Amino acid sequence: MGSLLSGLGELGLKGLESADLYKSDTEEKKKEEAKAEAPQAAAFDERECLFGKSHTCPVCYKEFKALTARQSKIRPAGMDNDLRPRFKNFDPMKYDVILCPHCGYAALGRFFHTITPPQAKLVKEGISKNFHPIPDKEYFTYDEAFLRYQLALGNAVVKRGKAGEKAYLCLKMAWILRGKREDIESGKTEVNPNAFETIVEDLKQDETELLSNALDGFLNARQNESFPICGMDESTLDYIIAVTAMRLEKYDLVNQMLNVLLVRSRLTPMMKDYCIDMKEELRKIRKEQEG
Ligand SMILES: [Zn+2]
Repeated sequence: MGSLLSGLGELGLKGLESADLYKSDTEEKKKEEAKAEAPQAAAFDERECLFGKSHTCPVCYKEFKALTARQSKIRPAGMDNDLRPRFKNFDPMKYDVILCPHCGYAALGRFFHTITPPQAKLVKEGISKNFHPIPDKEYFTYDEAFLRYQLALGNAVVKRGKAGEKAYLCLKMAWILRGKREDIESGKTEVNPNAFETIVEDLKQDETELLSNALDGFLNARQNESFPICGMDESTLDYIIAVTAMRLEKYDLVNQMLNVLLVRSRLTPMMKDYCIDMKEELRKIRKEQEG
């Protein structure tokens, strides 16, 4: 993706596509635009797991229904090291963004109704004025879900949301792309075999870019915001920082976080085990670097 928000142009929000997430960031290198559209196969009927939940928009005050996953249909199937939950059958995270189809205000469920009046004004000016509605869907492909996350991130930038909120969105967007890639790798989603490797490689690169943005924002939030941050206590946030830094090969940061985490008692056994694994991994890497 050219930037995290590329794609918003089709919603009338071209100006947002190049918005700077944390403002202080100077890099953000240009990546290839090669974005392959993958057709999605729906073997299992996801529509039966969803319903239209009623909301009143806190920006335009109109009512709408948002596709929402039925709790009773969600089948947890473990967790990745960075606490991304996995699911059988379908990925309910695709439905975590609430989007008002009238004015383009979008946010994760946990933030949707907490917008302040000055922020609502910013959204009206920065989003609603130019917003082109997205057609209704019976269920979302990963691409359709990703576009809604991009819009939520665009809203967070426009309303001057906290770094923690933006970082959390980037993390979840990385998870959405990981879910999309896993479906392609497992054959659940069919793609042109000739394009398979390019698509998978591009998705990995985009995921890395999002994780890198999430890491910057979480480090910023850790310094400047009070806990809980997006529902996470200090240990959970530090753990996610450590795991994400590990994926991005920022070993000094991993080491620094592990030193804090391993003396704390509030980690879950899974988190503690993985911290010990990372410590060991780090030792090996350091040895190789020295040798
Ligand atoms: Zn609205």
